[in-house]
Amino acid sequence: MPLDLTHDPDLRCWVESAGHEETDFPIQNLPFAVFTPAAGGDPRVGIGIGSEVLDLRAASATGLLERAATDDITRRHLADTLADACRSPSLDALLALGRVPARMLRHALSSLLRADTTVGRDAAAMADQLLFSLDGVHLGLPAHIGDYTDFYASVHHATNVGSMFRPDNPLLPNYKWVPIGYHGRASTIVPSGTPVRRPRGQTRDGDAPPEFGPSRRLDYELEVGAVVCGGIDAPIELPRAEEHLYGLCLVNDWSARDIQAWEYQPLGPFLAKSFATSVSPWIVTLDALEPFRTAAYTRPEGDPAPLPYLSDPDDAQRGGFRITLEVWLASARMRERGEAPMRVSEGAFEGMYWTLGQMLTHHASNGCVLRPGDLIASGTVSGVAKESRGCLLERTWKGTEPLTLSGGETRRFLEDGDEVILRGRARAPGATPIGFGECRGIVLPAS
Ligand code: MN
Repeated sequence: MPLDLTHDPDLRCWVESAGHEETDFPIQNLPFAVFTPAAGGDPRVGIGIGSEVLDLRAASATGLLERAATDDITRRHLADTLADACRSPSLDALLALGRVPARMLRHALSSLLRADTTVGRDAAAMADQLLFSLDGVHLGLPAHIGDYTDFYASVHHATNVGSMFRPDNPLLPNYKWVPIGYHGRASTIVPSGTPVRRPRGQTRDGDAPPEFGPSRRLDYELEVGAVVCGGIDAPIELPRAEEHLYGLCLVNDWSARDIQAWEYQPLGPFLAKSFATSVSPWIVTLDALEPFRTAAYTRPEGDPAPLPYLSDPDDAQRGGFRITLEVWLASARMRERGEAPMRVSEGAFEGMYWTLGQMLTHHASNGCVLRPGDLIASGTVSGVAKESRGCLLERTWKGTEPLTLSGGETRRFLEDGDEVILRGRARAPGATPIGFGECRGIVLPAS
């Protein structure tokens, strides 16, 4: 998809905060979330704009959205199926419709929020019916997530973790051929802001007998999630794979490393991961991310070329996204003292060994049924530099190199009361930067 008017850096929005340089949600972004006004009301779909959320149900009910349609086909959709989807209490219906209606909606929303259109001026006059301050809403899960799969697409993460457990043989022979993943647990996916209880589980320290108790090596994993959309008939061909991805969010795949180390062989992660996975409430559409596309990871000489079903010149040329990802940490003591969270890592999503398209194509290649709302996560995003490692296991090298927090505390793994905050921002020359909001979670003591 080429760049279009919705990406124009010169667009001006009638919502003043959307013009602030630091905002995650300028008019070029238009991310989706499900919100409930704190003052009461039903959940509804919203669009992030500056420090506000645009109520899509109200925008549709007032007729403004239909008026904002930029062509007849969009107008017909906005009077029919798309209107129903915009007025529903979750993103499920929009996800089922797929990418093409999402693109139509994006154009209409851009027009509705522009300061220089007639419909935009009319919308501005009705702002009190359309907008809620982000401070005054609760953001929930964006959709019914039926299934969740977590990949392992950062070769740096895989190499780091592998070298801790298998120093002689860090990267297993399948890594450069197969996008490795495991089936996660959709039932324990929680929206940003939900506290996460330290899990109990079975661990084994050296040759001592195994024990059952609270994990002592609780960790986060900084990841990007992709939300599946549209009607899908497996298999998915790589050149069309992205038509089945609505957009991206931030994912924290909380992990209990001590439980993981004892249970993971031979079938992979199980209870070390399934106690909680946090997701950011905002879905940033792939259309919004168009200006930030870049080439897929360049495989070093000597690495095998992907097999034909995972090869596509277009995906190789533009299957990556320039997204900077950050992890921030605030301990209970830091919060009590009013200290700001501390950034503990900064990574780049474009360094992933497999593209999202390759992951999705591989996932469906055996006949596995994927459904709208399914979540595909990238795996921990880590780079070469120490500061770009996306989990504490790597950042503190299994706890052997503790981190010193800004107030002087040290961390090998997460302590009770620690808050982990993930942030993401897409940047590219000539484009207005867009962000992902936040994915937060505070660790509660084991029950
Ligand atoms: Mn993970």
